[in-house]
Amino acid sequence: MSMTLMINEKHLLCEIDVIVSFGWREDMEGKSEGLAIGIDLGTTYSCVGVWRHGHVDIIPNDQGNRTTPSCIAFTDTERLIGDAAKNQVAGNPTNTVLDAKRLVGRRYGDPSVQSDIRMWPFKVIADPSDKPMIVVSYKGEEKQFAAEEISSMILTKMKKIAEDYLGTTVKNNVVTVPACFNESQRQATRDASVIAGLNVLRIIKEPIAAAIAYGLDKRADSVGGKNVLIFDLGGGTFDVCLLNIEEGIFEVKAIAGDAHLGGEDFDNRMLNHFVQEFKRKHKKDISGDAKALRRLRTACERAKRILSSTTQTTVEIDSGYEDVDFCSTITRAKFEKLNMGLFRKCMEPVKKCLRDAKMDKSSVHDVVLVGGSTRIPKVQQLLQDFFDGKELCKSINPDEAVAYGAAVQAAILSDENNENVRDLLLIDITPFSLGVETDGGVMTVVIPRNSTIPTSKEMLFSTCHDDQPEVLIQVYEGERTMASDNNLMGSFVFSGIHSGPRGAPKVNICFNINVNGILIVSAEDKTTGHKNEITITNYVGRLSTEEIQKMIQEAETYKAEDEERKKKVEAKNALESYAYNARRKIKDEENIGPRLSAPDQEKIEDAVRRTIQWVEENELAKADEFENKMKELESICNPITAQVYEGSGDNIRGGMDVDPPSAGE
Ligand code: AMP
Repeated sequence: MSMTLMINEKHLLCEIDVIVSFGWREDMEGKSEGLAIGIDLGTTYSCVGVWRHGHVDIIPNDQGNRTTPSCIAFTDTERLIGDAAKNQVAGNPTNTVLDAKRLVGRRYGDPSVQSDIRMWPFKVIADPSDKPMIVVSYKGEEKQFAAEEISSMILTKMKKIAEDYLGTTVKNNVVTVPACFNESQRQATRDASVIAGLNVLRIIKEPIAAAIAYGLDKRADSVGGKNVLIFDLGGGTFDVCLLNIEEGIFEVKAIAGDAHLGGEDFDNRMLNHFVQEFKRKHKKDISGDAKALRRLRTACERAKRILSSTTQTTVEIDSGYEDVDFCSTITRAKFEKLNMGLFRKCMEPVKKCLRDAKMDKSSVHDVVLVGGSTRIPKVQQLLQDFFDGKELCKSINPDEAVAYGAAVQAAILSDENNENVRDLLLIDITPFSLGVETDGGVMTVVIPRNSTIPTSKEMLFSTCHDDQPEVLIQVYEGERTMASDNNLMGSFVFSGIHSGPRGAPKVNICFNINVNGILIVSAEDKTTGHKNEITITNYVGRLSTEEIQKMIQEAETYKAEDEERKKKVEAKNALESYAYNARRKIKDEENIGPRLSAPDQEKIEDAVRRTIQWVEENELAKADEFENKMKELESICNPITAQVYEGSGDNIRGGMDVDPPSAGE
């Protein structure tokens, strides 16, 4: 049986080799040629940017919006991503997946997962390894998706938005994650990128990305060192980050946050308020009706946004529930009252950050607002009051700052030789302490929380029993004293330990975190030199290589289906256009109509009528069936019209041809 480790006190006391390296220039991994994009993969909205011609372009999507809902919908006929998915959510709530990022890298049994599931209209179940799986009905079949797959679908969409805009294939990206994401969540985000066909140059934390965007603007001012607090309140997550910026170097002093606090919580408070009001006014409870709730929630989110610039607004839903219209007003004061507890909660991580960095609030030079929810006036006021009236920095668009910074990082890593980005250095830190379980179930920290990364640290351990041949090395992250209260990231057995009395063998354990925050743990028997370098890739909740491969294949299938759907929409449009065009032209006095005999006119009209009826009855037909129908209709119409045009010099195809087809999404 494997035993746990014992700390070798002697060696602990004499501070054995501690190697800390930082500064990404020397250790840069994944440096790559070609255009690279920066993606802010947000809980509610995502945003993509690219560095071109000496500045960052935030790329608008096909709807012209600079942010895209992180939303996927499944229907009987198709899969929708982004705005198209969000727009149909009220009519299809159980198959529309929102906020999947909340599940990334987590277990089904996690209390935060359980509380999310209660609020979501779509179904989530546990797979045999306790991984949460989203269950939807797609094309009439029940399908299960991991959160990484949903994230990869959003990343695929962001990649496509960039490719359409740039007119070229994009292979590399920098993707952002919340500061409070742990190792397995970072890994899961990396997996999602791989599934989407993107090579991850680097994963960076959202507040750091925002700071890069901010630092670029203010670099000239930052000489001599500036302490900057990034306050990032988005749709589903909240991050506070305290940075020191000096001569282009960003050093993270402390981070804090709440992975479960954001705009959606404010929406929920308003939603509950209106559910209660509906109960009072109409004696009806809509809380069991997913569709009605979803519609009301959408209206609440809209109202919330409006209340950031006006003091009162209306929430109206026709036939809100059982044909009863819903109409009510809400003031900014009421909205603030409903959410005051949450707004105040937002100040706690700010205090914690300052405490951790041992910094007084008067030492903070700038307070930067990031994330859509920082537009809420009360949030701004509380923050400003806390910093004794300091003017808050709002110059960066709060929805775009993270993608902006990610695009700058992408440019650096893809070797964009631009002066503006060339000198930027980035120092990142570990959000949790990392360590191993030692004798008595104690958590022994190897890399303390808030250590600068990349980093590498070594510590000597020994055995707890005489002639112990192997040890079980269990790697944890967290701040609790007992290992079992922390998060188990992975474990491996190190065998072949030199035989000897308890405490005599020396096992050197090395924790190495690379620039992407990926942890590698290795062990070495100092006596024999027997080394067993083991990379812990098997994080809890992480996908295996086989699973990633399977998901890549599935993503390809979806891509093929999307293309088939586009082809079908084009073929259907072409057929309909041709048919309606033909009908218009035989009836049009100015056109070929008067030059056709009555039987020929009737023949064309009859063919058009039958074609339109066929289209109505065969909505689900395939692209080639529409194309065949087109050929059939052409074979009836073209010979007749050809006679009319003969000798007239007109172009026959031009005379009857279709309008340019317009494809769907
Ligand atoms: P993000 O995750 O940073 O894209 O932030 C999205 C969140 O910001 C959503 O919950 C939005 O409802 C919220 N949001 C966007 N604009 C406003 C606004 N004007 N007032 C209040 N909340 C907003």
